[in-house]
Amino acid sequence: MTLTPPATTEGTAADAAPVVQVRDLHKSFGDNLVLRGIELDVTPGEVVCVIGPSGSGKSTLLRCVNQLESATSGTIRVLGTEITDPDINIDAVRQHVGMVFQQFNLFTHQTVLENCTVAQRKVLGRSKAEATKVALHNLERVGLADRGSAHPTQLSGGQQQRVAIARALSMDPSIMLFDEPTSALDPELVGDVLSVMRDLAQQGMTMIVVTHEMAFAREVADRVVFMDGGVVVESGPPAQVIGDPQEPRTRAFLDRVL
Ligand code: ADP
Ligand code: MG
Repeated sequence: MTLTPPATTEGTAADAAPVVQVRDLHKSFGDNLVLRGIELDVTPGEVVCVIGPSGSGKSTLLRCVNQLESATSGTIRVLGTEITDPDINIDAVRQHVGMVFQQFNLFTHQTVLENCTVAQRKVLGRSKAEATKVALHNLERVGLADRGSAHPTQLSGGQQQRVAIARALSMDPSIMLFDEPTSALDPELVGDVLSVMRDLAQQGMTMIVVTHEMAFAREVADRVVFMDGGVVVESGPPAQVIGDPQEPRTRAFLDRVL
């Protein structure tokens, strides 16, 4: 299977083939129907922020997109390849989908540089020299080029999260998924991580960001998706969904968090 990243688009995002296409996605855990027919298209270079109350299925949606969870029904296409097909080589898909978690998930027994090179070498077959070069480039992008020999425990939470971003970027993903990347951080460390994400967005990275940072969503998102009870309740530009929500459930949520 080959997954070719879509050509970069300078034109209207609406015309471009989607990087991610979710159709009628359902996911149950036992009797608990968590996703109830999600539809989502993400076009190249688009930044989609997903907001919604705890338990609404936001993490489950992201985890289905990179196949950490398998869909109960419905389809997900990544770069045109149906990843919900059970015969798919999921490792080949995951290379194109970078994920950043709330809890960083760095390998604590490895240095920062090793964290950023091991998957490049194992999965992409890059030489040590090439993997190191790519890792250093990405550590520089997140402002940590001088911390390659540190261990994660020697870094602040914000620095660890930026290493996690550099690690994901080092696989040259076509899309980056962020699941509440700043929720575990002390407030004074949130800004640096959001600023790295803002830079990525400006550089044209396609991103799905689950976040409670409404100011970030307003500023950086091309589109905001409000989820509740396993469905997309409302979706549109931030000025509409956050600034002038149409659905009572969206309004009630925003009244609580703003
Ligand atoms: P959110 O990220 O919006 O807070 P989640 O996607 O984490 O929501 O969870 C949605 C629902 O799915 C919750 O009821 C949660 O308990 C359930 N859930 C999530 N992951 C699992 C799992 N691995 N096993 C069983 N239930 C799960
Ligand atoms: Mg979650």
